[in-house]
Amino acid sequence: MSQQDMFKKLIAHAKEYGFIFPSSDIYDGMGAVYDYGPYGVELKNNIRTYWWHFMTRLHENIVGIDSAIFMHPAVWKASGHTDAFNDPLIDNKDSKKRYRADQLIEEYIEKQEGKIDKEVKKAAKRFGDSFDKDMFLKTNPRVLKIKEKVDEVHQRYLKALDENNLGELRQIILDCEIADPISGTRNWTDVRQFNLMFSTQLGSVSEEANTIYLRPETAQGIFVNFLNVQKTARMKIPFGIAQTGKAFRNEIVARQFIFRMREFEQMEMQYFVKPGEELKWFEYWKEKRMQWHLSLVADQDKLRYHDHDKLAHYANAATDIEFEFPMGFREVEGIHSRTDFDLLRHQEFSGKKMQYYDPETGESYVPYVIETSIGLDRMFLLILSYAYREEKVPNAEGKPEDRVVLKIPPALAPVQAAILPLVKKDGLPEIAREIFDLLNLDVYCQYDEKDSIGRRYRRQDAIGTPYCITTDQQTLEDRTVTLRDRDSMEQIRVKIEELPGILKEKVSMRKLLQSFI
Ligand code: ATP
Repeated sequence: MSQQDMFKKLIAHAKEYGFIFPSSDIYDGMGAVYDYGPYGVELKNNIRTYWWHFMTRLHENIVGIDSAIFMHPAVWKASGHTDAFNDPLIDNKDSKKRYRADQLIEEYIEKQEGKIDKEVKKAAKRFGDSFDKDMFLKTNPRVLKIKEKVDEVHQRYLKALDENNLGELRQIILDCEIADPISGTRNWTDVRQFNLMFSTQLGSVSEEANTIYLRPETAQGIFVNFLNVQKTARMKIPFGIAQTGKAFRNEIVARQFIFRMREFEQMEMQYFVKPGEELKWFEYWKEKRMQWHLSLVADQDKLRYHDHDKLAHYANAATDIEFEFPMGFREVEGIHSRTDFDLLRHQEFSGKKMQYYDPETGESYVPYVIETSIGLDRMFLLILSYAYREEKVPNAEGKPEDRVVLKIPPALAPVQAAILPLVKKDGLPEIAREIFDLLNLDVYCQYDEKDSIGRRYRRQDAIGTPYCITTDQQTLEDRTVTLRDRDSMEQIRVKIEELPGILKEKVSMRKLLQSFI
């Protein structure tokens, strides 16, 4: 199955099983806006909680806030968003579709690099054990030609971005003969800048002065509260402020399901450090955040760093953590060393000092900032796409049967245990209910007595429930139940009284967090 087909199936599965619905579905949906269903909201809450506990409980010097979505318009002037939070857009005159010029060029470069990989694979097959990859890359004429072209385009592209040269971006698209994937033509308009912030009016009078914005990132709510938090929580540098919440961007090309949305949620942390120490902390957070991802993704090859080619004018280091989504490696989290840019700008625009007084040295300074910024929805897509499997498994009669299973890490699963009476009579539902009451306050449970046990197992597999607990005749005799493992499908018999302990060990977030201590 191609990755594209897999992605389509995942999207259909997410809808069918109550994870994600298109927003305003009965009106045929709305571009790049989605709603989370009953299982989606549980998974999303669990991811958020895991991030929050990792950041705040495992770091005594990180505290949280929850700032408002609306902020004073001067905030966005100071941060640079009003003037420069733009994407370069280009339209194809035939398909009337709109694209991001930078993405068209980046995709072109990616495609060319893919051609090199293909050449390598072909040669490796041809030469077998004697294949020397480094030598091949250095000497093969076809590879060298592609590389030369890619390097040239790359250099031109970086320069054009640096100089904000929109004409040159268009010229690169023309020179590389990049065609619209829909119309197949190269009939492009000029490249224009497009501001991504949504605006609205405050109060009842529509005047320019009342224009406010929906925040495009949560970070600024942290910066403007820097001193409030530092003073009230008596924080000493280095310290961090964490926040999760909605952000809004009028994305030009909002495709690929919940990967790029117009309304999404971010989980951000700003870490305030002494000037000169920022690169040490940048490395620290790069490492820490990767560890967090690896605690959820066992396959290390699916994650990688991608250092930024072009640093934003305020940053002195930046990297992305990328995950191999069905559409290829893409950013899931950014780690940025933002220098003192934001605090200095707010100091300038507000006229209020944004300095930290160091009681040990007696000096005052504007701290430098390391930021970790991850999209909650993108992390949700990561978990879902990594978890989705189609398998052939034996059914109750030992015959092969298809199952779709979500192998979600147990601590994040929307439902953590399903309680299932084998049949709906003979006292089995009653004892199953008793087990439900015993467990449900610690472990999120679902009780289900409808349909055959095989169908109920399939249903729980499809929503990623890690454990099914089944009551049967023997339960009435000796108070034992079967405990079925989602991934191995093995069943063991355990005593009802042992269930709380066993499940706590298997599904609690504590276990995940403890692995970092
Ligand atoms: P991209 O290059 O994908 O547009 P970005 O570099 O603009 O992302 P940041 O501004 O660094 O993203 O935002 C931090 C994180 O917020 C990203 O790593 C991503 O996980 C998430 N994010 C950003 N834009 C969106 C969006 N439109 N939809 C969903 N998540 C998003």
